[in-house]
Amino acid sequence: MKTTKCDYLIIGSGAGGSSVADYLLESGFSVLMIEEGDDYSSDNVPESALDGMTGMWRGGGLTPAFGSPTVTYAEARCFGGGTEINSGIMQRVPASILAEWGAISDEDQDFYNNKIHSHYEWVENTLNANVLDSSQDQHSQILKHAGESQGWRVESLPRAMTGCSCKQPLCVCGGKQAMTATLLKKNLINKKFSVLPRTRAKKLIFKNSLVTEVIAEESSSQGSTSKIRILPTTVFLCAGTIHTPHLLMKSGVNFPGLGRFQLHPTLKILAHFKDPVNAARQPLPNYAITEFMPDLRFGGSVVTPGVLGMAFAENWDARSYLKDQLDYLASYYVMIRPKSWGQIRSFKFAADPLVTYMLDSQDSELIAFGTEKLSNALFSVGAVSLHPSIKNHGGWETINSVKVDMLNKKLRDKLNLMSIHLFGSCSPLNNPTFLLNNGRIKGISNVILADGSCLPSAPGVNPQATIMSLARRNVIKYCEK
Ligand SMILES: Cc1cc2nc3c(=O)[nH]c(=O)nc-3n(C[C@H](O)[C@H](O)[C@H](O)COP(=O)(O)OP(=O)(O)OC[C@H]3O[C@@H](n4cnc5c(N)ncnc54)[C@H](O)[C@@H]3O)c2cc1C
Repeated sequence: MKTTKCDYLIIGSGAGGSSVADYLLESGFSVLMIEEGDDYSSDNVPESALDGMTGMWRGGGLTPAFGSPTVTYAEARCFGGGTEINSGIMQRVPASILAEWGAISDEDQDFYNNKIHSHYEWVENTLNANVLDSSQDQHSQILKHAGESQGWRVESLPRAMTGCSCKQPLCVCGGKQAMTATLLKKNLINKKFSVLPRTRAKKLIFKNSLVTEVIAEESSSQGSTSKIRILPTTVFLCAGTIHTPHLLMKSGVNFPGLGRFQLHPTLKILAHFKDPVNAARQPLPNYAITEFMPDLRFGGSVVTPGVLGMAFAENWDARSYLKDQLDYLASYYVMIRPKSWGQIRSFKFAADPLVTYMLDSQDSELIAFGTEKLSNALFSVGAVSLHPSIKNHGGWETINSVKVDMLNKKLRDKLNLMSIHLFGSCSPLNNPTFLLNNGRIKGISNVILADGSCLPSAPGVNPQATIMSLARRNVIKYCEK
């Protein structure tokens, strides 16, 4: 087995891992980063959307969590992590939620109520976060008008984007400020930075309270694998909300609360308008209806052939006629900040974790409330029919039919919810004895957590800016010591 030594080992190259690498390298340290996925940033760019889907997304797309109703979630598995496939919406957590998180400890109170904002500024400057002009984009404008028609608060969403010329639903011209376009690109020229893509950490080996070895598996582009033994001084665990606790459990670390996680359950509504929208040729809507925040938010989703295909497949008989109406379709969503928590579990002989998620009745009520409100607003701005992500649903043409369905509790089991936001699987809220602030775990002195797993609970907004801020805080705190 090949053996390699390093000072700082970072496992995972996403929003958290890249932020940690940046600070360590800026401080003059040597860093080895391993990433399970491939590097698609330069000559390895996927030639088609399908290659991108299968290569850059874990499991080739959406992964189902076991539970009721169905919730599927998406994760990246590539160099740069989720930032390579996401929409780059940058948001700060609302003050009311920061105050909740600040109540965890005195140190957290100062951090979440004050200090976090300097980290947010760093993120926003590093990623060129700005509000794009969407005055000519129907897909965006419909959402804005829908909110205004009801007298609701509508906000513009800043995005990590600069000089985008393609104006596609997902930027493909390099304007999006993913990690491979920003922090990783900047640091790859540093001789103290080594990266091993296609290398998955399989197990941390402990001696007393220290990780002394990490056993990883490297895959070649031809598909063969070989084991590597890495001997690090310090490990930053940045494998994302699902895989950080999974790796700890696979390594024999387990305690109550580990792997308990949240997501933002989201119901999509495909809207058919009488006038053309041309959503597939426009950027993602850059407004959100924030009237019911922090518990409920309405926004716009990307419209791509794959997304439409999934929506049609939910009830092909009732929806297939829409395939001749592509220019008249738009996609919006109802997203909640839930009370429910899911659980990540690992089993000895299974390489992947078991993820379960049950939506509690309060959360289904909130989704039903939001669906009725958003549907009403969409009808008021010219939608002729709405097709929610509910199994075998025939669609709505009037607000009355929405109201009837939303009172039908049996229909709630048929919701096809999804989430692209996952967090809190190593939250101090779930075990303050073992999960300490600043990403530390009681009894393990050289492992620091720095990714979505560290968020105390669901933020109610897009999480990347907060994940990067907390990762930066954790690495700074470690270096101070
Ligand atoms: C489609 C989509 C759209 C999104 N849109 C937005 C948005 O607009 N704004 C926003 O704020 N957020 C958005 N998000 C969420 C955001 O991208 C994630 O919250 C964020 O990237 C998570 O950062 P992370 O560091 O926790 O994990 P990730 O970015 O997922 O990085 C973890 C990395 O670790 C690697 N890894 C896992 N296990 C191992 C292992 N054992 N060994 C080695 N490597 C490993 C993974 O392959 C992955 O690359 C979106 C997400 C998706 C999927």
